Amino acid sequence: MIKFLDLGKVNNRFRDVMDARIAKILDKGWYLQGEENEVFTKHFADFCGTKYALGVANGLDALRLIIKASGFGEGDEIIVPANTYIATILAISDNGCTPVLVEPDINSYNINPDLIEVAITPKTKAIMVVHLYGQAVQMEKIWAVAKKHNLKVFEDCAQAHGAYYQGKRIGSLSDAAAFSFYPGKNLGALGDAGAVVSNDKELIDKVKALANYGSDRKYHHIYKGLNSRLDEIQAAVLDVKLPYLDEDNARRREIAKYYREHITNAKIILPKVYDELAHVWHVFVVRTQERDRFQQYLTDKGIQTIIHYPTPPHKQLAYQEWNNRSYPITEEIHRTVISLPISPMMTDEEVRKVVKVVNEW
Ligand SMILES: *Cc1c(COP(=O)(O)O)cnc(C)c1O
Repeated sequence: MIKFLDLGKVNNRFRDVMDARIAKILDKGWYLQGEENEVFTKHFADFCGTKYALGVANGLDALRLIIKASGFGEGDEIIVPANTYIATILAISDNGCTPVLVEPDINSYNINPDLIEVAITPKTKAIMVVHLYGQAVQMEKIWAVAKKHNLKVFEDCAQAHGAYYQGKRIGSLSDAAAFSFYPGKNLGALGDAGAVVSNDKELIDKVKALANYGSDRKYHHIYKGLNSRLDEIQAAVLDVKLPYLDEDNARRREIAKYYREHITNAKIILPKVYDELAHVWHVFVVRTQERDRFQQYLTDKGIQTIIHYPTPPHKQLAYQEWNNRSYPITEEIHRTVISLPISPMMTDEEVRKVVKVVNEW
């Protein structure tokens, strides 16, 4: 069987080095807010090309904290793509803000920049872009609208670690950006983990305090904060893996290129790419009108697939106040998408088999 993603295989490449780094933590007996956090966040900020990075507990918290630290809450609106993973939207509503859903571009699957301006009201405070499936949003128009209306721009980078836009890494393209290191992401921990990156010292300091019970120093609480920290073991694991991220992304690009050149089945709509380096292929999403039948066929042939995602946020019970709304492009995407296996650990033989099986459908 060709697995969608073999995480054991991904991580066991680093087994010896990880064992040694974790043993060092056990020897020291220091588990939170220590040297491993300092080392990893310094390396991660350098990688992203930002001045600062701060480790937090997960990607959703990174998003929540950015909004909270920006001072946005009840009565404020934040623009967000309608077809993102629900976490992006949860982070907005969790702060008491109103998520304003904007339809994606059917070609890039990212937010359609031409639909943002009509969604802006006097209450709009920010645009939250999502580099969905691993492809960097084309930021030019986003920046222009944000500048014109004096809005903050934030990035949800949970699916696109290492992608470039105009020679700069995603994460460095906005006021603040959130990363998730959930195990299955392109840079994944051995559990939950996340980070906020930014060039804004004041904002990062505030995120840091908010993530630590609102304290700027021990037992001195200046905000009503929460507890969301990156533990030392996950920081060490991520620091071991970070130097190999570009290599892994290059292998993902190679597989994606092979798929795009060799999948010729007319019933399959392949992903569109505006720049090779802008995409890190977190998932390889194709579309077909007979999605469920196609998935069953692949399962029968021993190829595991996943749907990203089967139900759009506005049709979820959690947002039942939106259930009657219609976002046709978002709904069409959710109805037709299916993700083929793409992992840096796939062999050439497996990649060729996927192509053969897909073309024979
Ligand atoms: C994974 C993901 C998140 C949430 O990250 P967690 O670490 O799982 O909390 C947020 N946004 C997007 C787009 C994601 O893919």
